[in-house]
Amino acid sequence: MGSNPIRSTITVDCIDLVGAVFFMTRPVQGIIPPCGGHRPVGNRGRPGRLYPVDTALAIYFFRLIRIHKKFTIFCFLKKGFRIFIQNILIATVFCCCIFYWQLNTRGFFHPYGQQGVHMTIREELELREQEILSPWASLSKETRGRLKEEEPCDIRPAFQRDRDRILHSKSFRRLKDKTQVFLAPTGDHYRTRLTHTLEVSQNARTIAKALRLNEDLVEAISLGHDLGHTPFGHCGERALNRICPLGFEHNEQSLRIVDILERNGKGLNLCWEVRDGIFNHQMSGSPSTLEGQIVRFSDKIAYLHHDMDDAMRAGLLTEEEIPREISDVAGKTIGERLDFFIHDMIRNSQDKDVISMSEPAAKALQDMRTFMFRQVYSNPVAKAEESRAEQLVEVLYDYFFTHEDRLPDFYLHMIVDETSKMRAVCDYISAMSDHFAIAKYEELFVPKAWSVL
Ligand code: MG
Repeated sequence: MGSNPIRSTITVDCIDLVGAVFFMTRPVQGIIPPCGGHRPVGNRGRPGRLYPVDTALAIYFFRLIRIHKKFTIFCFLKKGFRIFIQNILIATVFCCCIFYWQLNTRGFFHPYGQQGVHMTIREELELREQEILSPWASLSKETRGRLKEEEPCDIRPAFQRDRDRILHSKSFRRLKDKTQVFLAPTGDHYRTRLTHTLEVSQNARTIAKALRLNEDLVEAISLGHDLGHTPFGHCGERALNRICPLGFEHNEQSLRIVDILERNGKGLNLCWEVRDGIFNHQMSGSPSTLEGQIVRFSDKIAYLHHDMDDAMRAGLLTEEEIPREISDVAGKTIGERLDFFIHDMIRNSQDKDVISMSEPAAKALQDMRTFMFRQVYSNPVAKAEESRAEQLVEVLYDYFFTHEDRLPDFYLHMIVDETSKMRAVCDYISAMSDHFAIAKYEELFVPKAWSVL
């Protein structure tokens, strides 16, 4: 260091700087940075607490002031001015870079960073989505919004809130008594529309998690995709579509339920992405988000596999009847095949902006669908009651269309003209469960026994 005051001052400054950098960048014990930085985001309950890294930053500020002070003194004395300025400039630029880096890792430049301890749980979760999820994921924070604006929840991000709304809806509960393939099954182990929905959701969440896409959005779409299904599955849908001049499609009805019919006409007011996924969940649809695409595939994968399982339970199929072109590619059992299609989809969609399957897998799935249509979906044994179910739906439609006063008040109040009457009758009948539709038919058309003793 010697006797040269300039050199010794610069040396002390450099030692200070190295020390400050060391303190600032060393690992902070006991703090798990939730967002990858040093900043303890969301430390509610511990407001104002100083962490080692905060102390280091304070020391650093102090040293910057010292440097500035010395700079002023040397300018005044004009001793060794040129070399001093050079060194100070280099040190200051270096310090500024470190300072910027520290602020950045502490989230200071992040949209939520400056809110510090005031960050809500929802904001923390949104921030986590932003840091963890794939660049192609739909972020809750960036939703295109709801039909009606509303205050965000302080705990749940938008898609999680939508998932909960669907789960708590009446239409969701009614799915437990709606047909999947076998009409009003009495066996405990047959799928219903509710268990189908849950299996779609489980497959879709597995895929979304593996691809780092938004699991909440996928779950919301999955739980809502079949809300609009009629009693007696697709045959009820066919009957309503045939008899109602306005037509009837279950995906359109699912959207109508979440937008208008639920909560006594207020609707669930879901996010655009959830509504888009629900409306486009059929293979003919084209969802705008990757999460919607996942549900569209998961629906198909789920129904083909669990319907095959139910068909085997019902004695319509055996494992040995599964064509070789399917089992050779996808596996020998239902479990193996399900695993194969999900793995294939994940492998083929990683780091891509589209959800897809490999060619052999897509062909095997298509072969499976063709096989299921031939063996199960158009099987005369499984479909024996379908024509009666269709007839029942048509009779109920005719009855309520000509006796609208027998509709519940909620549907009756929707009627203002002929078109709205058709829609209201469709809304009422499509909302019925299998058992309710049968009970209503019996109430209206089956003579009751004389009960006076
Ligand atoms: Mg479905």
